[in-house]
Amino acid sequence: MKSWPQVYIPPIESSFDFPQLRLYNTASQSIEELPRKNLYQMYVCGITPYDATHLGHAATYTTFDLINRFLRASGARVDFVQNITDIDDPLFERAKRDNVDWSDLATSQIELFRGDMVDLHIIPPKDYIGVVEAIPIIIDSISKIREAAPTYSVESDLYFDVHSDSNFGKRSHLSKEEMIEIFAERGGDPSREGKRNPLDALLWLHQRDGEPGWESPYGKGRPGWHIECSAIAMHYLSRDTDSQFSIDIQGGGKDLIFPHHEMSAAQSKAISGKEFARSYVHTGMIGLDGEKMSKSKGNLLFVSKMVNEGISPMAIRLALISQHYSADRMWTQSVLDDAVVLLEKISIALSREEVAPTKTVINEIIGALSNNLDTSGALDALSTWCDKTLEGSVGGEAGELSRAIDSLLGIAI
Ligand code: ZN
Repeated sequence: MKSWPQVYIPPIESSFDFPQLRLYNTASQSIEELPRKNLYQMYVCGITPYDATHLGHAATYTTFDLINRFLRASGARVDFVQNITDIDDPLFERAKRDNVDWSDLATSQIELFRGDMVDLHIIPPKDYIGVVEAIPIIIDSISKIREAAPTYSVESDLYFDVHSDSNFGKRSHLSKEEMIEIFAERGGDPSREGKRNPLDALLWLHQRDGEPGWESPYGKGRPGWHIECSAIAMHYLSRDTDSQFSIDIQGGGKDLIFPHHEMSAAQSKAISGKEFARSYVHTGMIGLDGEKMSKSKGNLLFVSKMVNEGISPMAIRLALISQHYSADRMWTQSVLDDAVVLLEKISIALSREEVAPTKTVINEIIGALSNNLDTSGALDALSTWCDKTLEGSVGGEAGELSRAIDSLLGIAI
Protein backbone atom coordinates (compact mmCIF):
# COMPACT_ATOMS: atom_id res chain seq x y z
CA MET A 1 0.00 0.00 0.00
CA LYS A 2 1.14 3.53 -0.71
CA SER A 3 2.95 5.01 2.26
CA TRP A 4 3.13 8.75 2.85
CA PRO A 5 5.72 11.19 1.46
CA GLN A 6 9.27 10.99 2.75
CA VAL A 7 10.24 13.48 5.44
CA TYR A 8 13.39 15.52 5.00
CA ILE A 9 15.82 14.75 7.83
CA PRO A 10 18.57 17.35 8.18
CA PRO A 11 22.03 15.87 8.72
CA ILE A 12 23.72 16.12 12.10
CA GLU A 13 27.45 16.74 12.30
CA SER A 14 29.37 13.54 12.90
CA SER A 15 31.26 15.18 15.75
CA PHE A 16 28.37 14.51 18.14
CA ASP A 17 28.76 11.44 20.27
CA PHE A 18 25.73 9.14 20.34
CA PRO A 19 25.45 6.82 23.33
CA GLN A 20 23.66 3.54 22.59
CA LEU A 21 19.89 3.88 22.82
CA ARG A 22 18.41 2.44 26.00
CA LEU A 23 14.75 1.41 25.98
CA TYR A 24 12.35 -0.24 28.39
CA ASN A 25 11.68 -3.79 27.23
CA THR A 26 8.29 -5.07 28.36
CA ALA A 27 9.49 -8.67 28.07
CA SER A 28 12.48 -8.29 30.40
CA GLN A 29 10.76 -5.57 32.47
CA SER A 30 13.94 -3.54 32.45
CA ILE A 31 15.70 -0.80 30.54
CA GLU A 32 18.16 -2.36 28.11
CA GLU A 33 20.78 -0.94 25.81
CA LEU A 34 20.31 -1.80 22.15
CA PRO A 35 23.49 -3.35 20.73
CA ARG A 36 25.46 -1.31 18.22
CA LYS A 37 24.30 -2.33 14.73
CA ASN A 38 24.39 -0.92 11.22
CA LEU A 39 20.80 -1.92 10.52
CA TYR A 40 17.89 -2.13 12.96
CA GLN A 41 14.54 -3.74 12.22
CA MET A 42 11.45 -2.11 13.70
CA TYR A 43 7.83 -3.19 13.33
CA VAL A 44 5.07 -0.93 14.65
CA CYS A 45 1.47 -2.10 14.63
CA GLY A 46 -0.73 0.18 12.57
CA ILE A 47 -4.31 1.38 12.81
CA THR A 48 -7.53 -0.45 12.12
CA PRO A 49 -8.93 2.08 9.65
CA TYR A 50 -12.45 2.62 10.95
CA ASP A 51 -11.50 5.94 12.53
CA ALA A 52 -8.78 8.44 11.75
CA THR A 53 -5.78 9.13 13.94
CA HIS A 54 -6.70 10.05 17.49
CA LEU A 55 -4.21 11.45 19.97
CA GLY A 56 -3.39 8.00 21.36
CA HIS A 57 -2.29 6.85 17.90
CA ALA A 58 -0.40 10.09 17.38
CA ALA A 59 1.48 9.60 20.67
CA THR A 60 2.43 6.04 19.73
CA TYR A 61 3.64 6.82 16.21
CA THR A 62 5.52 9.89 17.42
CA THR A 63 7.33 7.74 20.00
CA PHE A 64 8.55 5.20 17.45
CA ASP A 65 9.44 8.07 15.14
CA LEU A 66 11.76 9.36 17.88
CA ILE A 67 13.42 5.92 18.07
CA ASN A 68 13.73 5.84 14.27
CA ARG A 69 15.23 9.36 14.24
CA PHE A 70 17.70 8.65 17.05
CA LEU A 71 19.03 5.47 15.44
CA ARG A 72 19.37 7.17 12.05
CA ALA A 73 21.05 10.23 13.51
CA SER A 74 23.55 7.94 15.25
CA GLY A 75 24.59 6.67 11.81
CA ALA A 76 22.58 3.43 11.56
CA ARG A 77 19.91 2.47 9.07
CA VAL A 78 16.43 1.49 10.19
CA ASP A 79 14.15 -0.95 8.42
CA PHE A 80 10.73 0.22 9.51
CA VAL A 81 7.57 -1.65 8.59
CA GLN A 82 4.00 -0.90 9.59
CA ASN A 83 0.73 -2.63 8.82
CA ILE A 84 -2.86 -1.50 8.43
CA THR A 85 -5.37 -3.87 9.93
CA ASP A 86 -7.81 -3.45 7.06
CA ILE A 87 -9.43 -6.81 7.79
CA ASP A 88 -10.78 -6.97 11.33
CA ASP A 89 -14.00 -7.16 13.31
CA PRO A 90 -14.14 -3.49 14.42
CA LEU A 91 -13.86 -2.31 10.80
CA PHE A 92 -16.67 -4.61 9.63
CA GLU A 93 -18.82 -3.63 12.61
CA ARG A 94 -18.38 0.09 11.98
CA ALA A 95 -19.06 -0.30 8.24
CA LYS A 96 -22.25 -2.23 9.03
CA ARG A 97 -23.35 0.34 11.62
CA ASP A 98 -22.81 3.22 9.18
CA ASN A 99 -24.14 1.26 6.21
CA VAL A 100 -21.03 1.80 4.12
CA ASP A 101 -18.78 -0.58 2.25
CA TRP A 102 -15.97 -1.73 4.59
CA SER A 103 -13.26 -1.22 1.97
CA ASP A 104 -14.49 2.31 1.16
CA LEU A 105 -14.44 3.12 4.87
CA ALA A 106 -10.90 1.74 5.17
CA THR A 107 -9.68 3.65 2.12
CA SER A 108 -11.03 6.97 3.38
CA GLN A 109 -9.60 6.53 6.88
CA ILE A 110 -6.19 5.41 5.59
CA GLU A 111 -6.04 8.57 3.47
CA LEU A 112 -6.77 10.68 6.54
CA PHE A 113 -4.13 8.77 8.49
CA ARG A 114 -1.49 9.49 5.83
CA GLY A 115 -2.29 13.20 6.04
CA ASP A 116 -2.01 13.12 9.83
CA MET A 117 1.38 11.39 9.66
CA VAL A 118 2.65 14.04 7.22
CA ASP A 119 1.36 16.82 9.48
CA LEU A 120 3.06 15.25 12.51
CA HIS A 121 6.33 14.90 10.61
CA ILE A 122 6.52 11.12 11.02
CA ILE A 123 9.12 9.34 8.87
CA PRO A 124 7.16 6.91 6.68
CA PRO A 125 7.73 3.15 6.91
CA LYS A 126 9.73 1.44 4.19
CA ASP A 127 6.73 -0.84 3.70
CA TYR A 128 3.23 0.16 4.68
CA ILE A 129 1.22 -3.01 4.25
CA GLY A 130 -2.51 -3.64 4.30
CA VAL A 131 -3.78 -7.06 5.27
CA VAL A 132 -5.83 -7.34 2.06
CA GLU A 133 -2.69 -7.10 -0.06
CA ALA A 134 -0.82 -9.47 2.27
CA ILE A 135 -3.27 -12.40 2.10
CA PRO A 136 -0.92 -14.69 0.08
CA ILE A 137 1.90 -13.96 2.56
CA ILE A 138 -0.38 -14.69 5.49
CA ILE A 139 -1.54 -17.97 3.94
CA ASP A 140 2.10 -18.94 3.41
CA SER A 141 2.92 -18.09 7.04
CA ILE A 142 0.03 -20.21 8.28
CA SER A 143 1.39 -23.13 6.23
CA LYS A 144 4.80 -22.67 7.84
CA ILE A 145 3.23 -22.61 11.30
CA ARG A 146 1.30 -25.80 10.52
CA GLU A 147 4.55 -27.56 9.66
CA ALA A 148 6.24 -26.39 12.85
CA ALA A 149 3.60 -26.34 15.57
CA PRO A 150 0.26 -27.89 16.51
CA THR A 151 -2.83 -26.34 14.96
CA TYR A 152 -6.42 -27.61 14.93
CA SER A 153 -9.87 -26.74 13.67
CA VAL A 154 -13.02 -25.81 15.49
CA GLU A 155 -15.99 -25.80 13.09
CA SER A 156 -13.76 -24.99 10.09
CA ASP A 157 -11.88 -22.22 11.92
CA LEU A 158 -8.17 -22.85 12.35
CA TYR A 159 -6.39 -22.34 15.69
CA PHE A 160 -2.76 -22.17 16.81
CA ASP A 161 -1.74 -23.91 20.02
CA VAL A 162 -0.10 -20.98 21.81
CA HIS A 163 1.45 -23.23 24.44
CA SER A 164 3.63 -24.83 21.78
CA ASP A 165 5.74 -21.71 22.40
CA SER A 166 7.68 -22.32 25.61
CA ASN A 167 7.94 -18.55 26.09
CA PHE A 168 4.20 -17.96 25.86
CA GLY A 169 3.26 -15.42 28.53
CA LYS A 170 6.82 -14.34 29.21
CA ARG A 171 6.51 -11.14 27.22
CA SER A 172 3.38 -9.89 28.94
CA HIS A 173 3.73 -11.21 32.51
CA LEU A 174 0.09 -11.89 33.31
CA SER A 175 -1.52 -14.71 35.25
CA LYS A 176 -3.60 -17.21 33.30
CA GLU A 177 -6.79 -15.69 34.75
CA GLU A 178 -5.71 -12.20 33.71
CA MET A 179 -4.83 -13.42 30.22
CA ILE A 180 -8.23 -15.02 29.77
CA GLU A 181 -10.05 -11.93 31.01
CA ILE A 182 -8.09 -9.50 28.80
CA PHE A 183 -8.30 -11.85 25.82
CA ALA A 184 -12.11 -11.77 26.06
CA GLU A 185 -12.12 -7.96 26.35
CA ARG A 186 -9.87 -7.46 23.33
CA GLY A 187 -11.54 -9.51 20.64
CA GLY A 188 -10.53 -13.02 21.76
CA ASP A 189 -12.76 -16.06 22.22
CA PRO A 190 -11.50 -17.86 25.36
CA SER A 191 -14.83 -19.51 26.11
CA ARG A 192 -15.49 -20.94 22.67
CA GLU A 193 -16.42 -24.57 22.88
CA GLY A 194 -14.08 -26.98 21.15
CA LYS A 195 -10.91 -25.01 21.81
CA ARG A 196 -8.18 -27.09 23.40
CA ASN A 197 -6.97 -24.14 25.41
CA PRO A 198 -8.94 -20.93 26.01
CA LEU A 199 -5.98 -18.82 24.89
CA ASP A 200 -5.32 -20.53 21.56
CA ALA A 201 -5.13 -18.00 18.75
CA LEU A 202 -7.31 -17.89 15.66
CA LEU A 203 -5.27 -18.27 12.49
CA TRP A 204 -8.02 -18.47 9.89
CA LEU A 205 -11.72 -17.74 10.22
CA HIS A 206 -14.12 -19.49 7.87
CA GLN A 207 -16.15 -16.95 5.89
CA ARG A 208 -19.18 -15.59 7.75
CA ASP A 209 -22.35 -14.19 6.22
CA GLY A 210 -21.90 -10.62 5.07
CA GLU A 211 -18.13 -10.69 5.49
CA PRO A 212 -15.42 -10.86 2.84
CA GLY A 213 -13.53 -14.09 2.24
CA TRP A 214 -10.44 -15.22 0.40
CA GLU A 215 -9.65 -18.67 -0.95
CA SER A 216 -7.06 -20.62 1.02
CA PRO A 217 -6.00 -24.22 1.68
CA TYR A 218 -8.07 -23.89 4.90
CA GLY A 219 -11.24 -22.89 3.10
CA LYS A 220 -12.62 -19.52 2.09
CA GLY A 221 -12.29 -17.00 4.87
CA ARG A 222 -10.02 -14.41 6.41
CA PRO A 223 -7.02 -14.32 8.72
CA GLY A 224 -7.10 -13.78 12.47
CA TRP A 225 -5.70 -10.51 13.81
CA HIS A 226 -2.42 -11.73 15.29
CA ILE A 227 -1.22 -13.77 12.32
CA GLU A 228 -1.59 -10.68 10.14
CA CYS A 229 1.21 -8.89 11.97
CA SER A 230 3.40 -12.00 12.35
CA ALA A 231 3.27 -12.63 8.62
CA ILE A 232 3.80 -9.02 7.51
CA ALA A 233 6.68 -8.42 9.95
CA MET A 234 8.45 -11.67 9.07
CA HIS A 235 8.06 -11.12 5.34
CA TYR A 236 8.88 -7.45 4.93
CA LEU A 237 11.59 -6.85 7.52
CA SER A 238 15.10 -7.91 6.69
CA ARG A 239 16.20 -10.54 9.16
CA ASP A 240 19.40 -10.60 11.06
CA THR A 241 20.75 -14.11 10.50
CA ASP A 242 23.47 -13.66 13.15
CA SER A 243 21.04 -12.63 15.84
CA GLN A 244 19.03 -14.81 18.20
CA PHE A 245 16.07 -12.51 17.43
CA SER A 246 14.19 -12.06 14.17
CA ILE A 247 13.83 -8.29 14.61
CA ASP A 248 14.99 -5.59 17.03
CA ILE A 249 11.86 -3.74 18.07
CA GLN A 250 8.18 -4.68 18.16
CA GLY A 251 6.20 -1.59 19.05
CA GLY A 252 2.73 -0.33 19.81
CA GLY A 253 0.45 1.03 22.49
CA LYS A 254 0.46 -0.88 25.75
CA ASP A 255 -3.06 -2.14 25.07
CA LEU A 256 -1.36 -4.38 22.48
CA ILE A 257 0.92 -6.15 24.97
CA PHE A 258 -1.68 -8.85 25.43
CA PRO A 259 -3.03 -10.64 23.53
CA HIS A 260 -1.75 -9.08 20.31
CA HIS A 261 2.00 -8.90 20.80
CA GLU A 262 2.23 -12.07 22.88
CA MET A 263 0.37 -14.07 20.24
CA SER A 264 2.10 -12.45 17.27
CA ALA A 265 5.44 -13.24 18.90
CA ALA A 266 4.49 -16.88 19.57
CA GLN A 267 3.38 -17.34 15.95
CA SER A 268 6.46 -15.59 14.56
CA LYS A 269 8.61 -17.86 16.69
CA ALA A 270 6.85 -20.90 15.20
CA ILE A 271 7.66 -19.56 11.71
CA SER A 272 11.35 -18.86 12.29
CA GLY A 273 12.33 -20.91 15.34
CA LYS A 274 13.75 -17.74 16.91
CA GLU A 275 12.40 -15.30 19.48
CA PHE A 276 10.55 -12.63 17.53
CA ALA A 277 11.79 -9.30 18.93
CA ARG A 278 14.80 -8.27 20.94
CA SER A 279 12.75 -5.53 22.55
CA TYR A 280 9.01 -5.09 23.04
CA VAL A 281 8.40 -1.38 23.45
CA HIS A 282 5.03 0.02 24.52
CA THR A 283 3.57 3.48 24.85
CA GLY A 284 1.23 4.71 27.59
CA MET A 285 -2.39 5.68 27.05
CA ILE A 286 -3.56 9.27 26.50
CA GLY A 287 -6.50 10.47 28.59
CA LEU A 288 -8.53 13.65 28.19
CA ASP A 289 -9.15 16.10 31.03
CA GLY A 290 -8.89 13.44 33.73
CA GLU A 291 -10.82 10.73 31.90
CA LYS A 292 -9.80 7.77 29.83
CA MET A 293 -10.03 8.62 26.13
CA SER A 294 -12.00 5.95 24.31
CA LYS A 295 -14.41 5.42 21.48
CA SER A 296 -17.04 4.12 23.91
CA LYS A 297 -16.90 7.39 25.88
CA GLY A 298 -17.04 9.34 22.61
CA ASN A 299 -14.26 11.69 23.75
CA LEU A 300 -11.57 10.86 21.21
CA LEU A 301 -9.63 13.84 19.89
CA PHE A 302 -8.69 13.45 16.23
CA VAL A 303 -5.52 14.98 14.83
CA SER A 304 -7.10 15.94 11.49
CA LYS A 305 -9.93 17.75 13.25
CA MET A 306 -7.54 19.62 15.53
CA VAL A 307 -5.37 20.67 12.59
CA ASN A 308 -8.47 21.80 10.67
CA GLU A 309 -9.38 23.92 13.66
CA GLY A 310 -6.06 25.71 13.29
CA ILE A 311 -3.91 23.98 15.90
CA SER A 312 -0.31 23.70 14.73
CA PRO A 313 0.71 20.06 14.15
CA MET A 314 4.16 20.90 15.55
CA ALA A 315 2.51 22.10 18.77
CA ILE A 316 0.57 18.80 18.93
CA ARG A 317 3.80 16.86 18.43
CA LEU A 318 5.65 18.92 21.03
CA ALA A 319 2.79 18.52 23.51
CA LEU A 320 2.74 14.75 22.97
CA ILE A 321 6.46 14.43 23.70
CA SER A 322 6.45 16.81 26.65
CA GLN A 323 5.79 13.87 28.98
CA HIS A 324 7.33 10.40 29.02
CA TYR A 325 6.14 8.03 26.31
CA SER A 326 5.61 5.09 28.62
CA ALA A 327 3.43 6.96 31.12
CA ASP A 328 -0.34 7.11 30.93
CA ARG A 329 -0.87 10.83 30.58
CA MET A 330 -3.57 13.44 30.31
CA TRP A 331 -4.19 15.72 27.38
CA THR A 332 -5.48 19.06 28.63
CA GLN A 333 -5.68 22.54 27.17
CA SER A 334 -2.77 23.57 29.38
CA VAL A 335 -0.53 20.79 27.98
CA LEU A 336 -1.22 22.16 24.50
CA ASP A 337 -0.87 25.81 25.61
CA ASP A 338 2.53 25.06 27.18
CA ALA A 339 3.68 23.46 23.93
CA VAL A 340 2.52 26.48 21.91
CA VAL A 341 4.46 28.79 24.26
CA LEU A 342 7.62 26.64 24.09
CA LEU A 343 7.41 26.41 20.30
CA GLU A 344 7.16 30.19 20.11
CA LYS A 345 10.09 30.59 22.50
CA ILE A 346 12.27 28.21 20.46
CA SER A 347 11.34 30.03 17.26
CA ILE A 348 12.19 33.47 18.72
CA ALA A 349 15.49 32.26 20.19
CA LEU A 350 16.56 30.54 16.96
CA SER A 351 15.86 33.70 14.96
CA ARG A 352 18.30 35.78 17.06
CA GLU A 353 21.46 36.85 15.29
CA GLU A 354 23.58 35.69 18.24
CA VAL A 355 22.61 32.61 20.21
CA ALA A 356 23.89 30.75 23.28
CA PRO A 357 26.40 27.93 22.69
CA THR A 358 24.66 25.10 20.82
CA LYS A 359 26.99 22.10 21.03
CA THR A 360 26.29 21.56 24.72
CA VAL A 361 22.52 21.66 24.38
CA ILE A 362 22.61 19.28 21.40
CA ASN A 363 24.69 16.84 23.47
CA GLU A 364 22.19 17.20 26.32
CA ILE A 365 19.28 16.44 23.98
CA ILE A 366 21.09 13.38 22.57
CA GLY A 367 21.94 12.20 26.08
CA ALA A 368 18.37 12.59 27.34
CA LEU A 369 16.87 10.79 24.33
CA SER A 370 19.34 7.92 24.65
CA ASN A 371 18.05 7.39 28.18
CA ASN A 372 14.78 5.61 27.32
CA LEU A 373 13.59 8.66 25.36
CA ASP A 374 13.62 11.19 28.18
CA THR A 375 11.87 13.80 26.07
CA SER A 376 11.00 16.07 28.96
CA GLY A 377 14.71 16.18 29.86
CA ALA A 378 15.52 17.05 26.24
CA LEU A 379 12.89 19.80 26.15
CA ASP A 380 14.06 21.20 29.51
CA ALA A 381 17.58 21.51 28.09
CA LEU A 382 16.19 23.23 25.00
CA SER A 383 14.08 25.62 27.07
CA THR A 384 17.08 26.53 29.22
CA TRP A 385 19.11 27.23 26.07
CA CYS A 386 16.31 29.54 24.86
CA ASP A 387 16.39 31.42 28.18
CA LYS A 388 20.17 31.86 27.95
CA THR A 389 19.91 33.09 24.38
CA LEU A 390 17.16 35.54 25.23
CA GLU A 391 19.29 36.78 28.14
CA GLY A 392 22.09 37.60 25.66
CA SER A 393 24.40 34.60 25.84
CA VAL A 394 26.42 34.15 22.62
CA GLY A 395 28.81 31.71 20.93
CA GLY A 396 26.44 29.22 19.29
CA GLU A 397 25.20 28.48 15.81
CA ALA A 398 21.42 28.62 15.42
CA GLY A 399 21.35 26.57 12.21
CA GLU A 400 23.15 23.70 13.90
CA LEU A 401 20.58 23.50 16.70
CA SER A 402 17.65 24.01 14.36
CA ARG A 403 18.83 21.04 12.26
CA ALA A 404 19.41 18.92 15.38
CA ILE A 405 15.94 19.43 16.83
CA ASP A 406 14.37 18.76 13.45
CA SER A 407 16.45 15.61 12.99
CA LEU A 408 16.14 14.26 16.54
CA LEU A 409 12.80 15.54 17.83
CA GLY A 410 10.99 15.96 14.53
CA ILE A 411 10.26 19.57 15.43
CA ALA A 412 10.67 21.72 12.33
CA ILE A 413 10.67 25.42 13.12
ZN1 ZN B 1 0.08 -5.78 15.07
